[in-house]
Amino acid sequence: MKRSGKRARGRAPRQRQAGGSLPGKRPQQQPADPAAAKAARQTTAYLKKLFAEVGFSIDARRGQNFLVDLNLLDLLERSAEIEPDDIVLEVGSGTAALTERLSRAAFRVVTVEIDPRLATLARDRLIDCDNVELVEGDVLAGKHRLAPEVSTALDAAMTARREARRSGRFLLAANLPYCVATPVISNLLLVRPFDAATVTVQREMAERMIASPGSGSYNALSVWVGAQCRGEIIRVLPPSAFWPRPKVDSAIVRLVLEPKRRQAITDLTRFHRFVRDIFCHRRKLLRGVLIRLAGGKQQPSAVDRVEKLYQKFGFDRSIRAEEIAPDTFVALQQEFAAEL
Ligand code: SAM
Repeated sequence: MKRSGKRARGRAPRQRQAGGSLPGKRPQQQPADPAAAKAARQTTAYLKKLFAEVGFSIDARRGQNFLVDLNLLDLLERSAEIEPDDIVLEVGSGTAALTERLSRAAFRVVTVEIDPRLATLARDRLIDCDNVELVEGDVLAGKHRLAPEVSTALDAAMTARREARRSGRFLLAANLPYCVATPVISNLLLVRPFDAATVTVQREMAERMIASPGSGSYNALSVWVGAQCRGEIIRVLPPSAFWPRPKVDSAIVRLVLEPKRRQAITDLTRFHRFVRDIFCHRRKLLRGVLIRLAGGKQQPSAVDRVEKLYQKFGFDRSIRAEEIAPDTFVALQQEFAAEL
């Protein structure tokens, strides 16, 4: 994985004024030629021309669906509510249309792009954005781990901000590649929690993240996210908002971390595993799944322990995992671990 030369140099963060303008704000990259100015906007025509010029062909397996509805790009940026002292992680720089906007609003941006051809295009576009660190490579190292280069870049951004005697939030803002959207959000909540995330994802995933118990969408991700964050769908996006068009709807979803609820989870790794184990058998009765996790029916102590839990929580014998709220899951996992 490569770390780009494009790097923040600890410039003094800008202060936002009433009305939203930023003193000392770098003038927008405005090519003198109005046609060029128009071309710099990420439209389908702009992307087709740019990709033809450099001989780039889209790799669908990497979720390369670019947001070409500029009003929705605005909405994504506005909904992220970035303040001048915030550090923003973007996964999937693409041609850096969103990155450029994030750069204008944030203290620093760490943006990650797996495709070296796109990373080159992004670097070109970000030439004047000295508060952006572009990490070239996979955001994940394996299925369930954030790439160390990404952590290092975020650490460096945090250090620079501390040295500038500033404090702000850590935000995720991105048009996420669908192939890694779930592990990115899940991993960050495990090892590097954002204060808020504003992302486009497939609609189905957005619905899962904010689903309530009993709904058809409620699954392990709903519990994991719902135990730590409050979430809302800001807007459902039709396939026409992207080029090339994906097959399904997407949505801009916003998650806001609730630190007290996160702190209530005493062992995040165990809780994460517990929830995933339980939802492997979501259609089965919870009782049987818990007994199996406690050692199996053949062990009378496992059955006794689960009986005690059921009494304590007042569960009906016919309850299933999909009916249990995230906070109850947190309490259940802790009692379950204590019983073992
Ligand atoms: N930000 C751009 C936009 O809004 O138009 C591009 C978003 S596009 C949905 C997703 C981007 O993520 C693509 O540029 C793709 O190459 C990149 N990508 C896919 N998998 C990745 C991974 N594992 N790590 C980092 N980037 C990845």
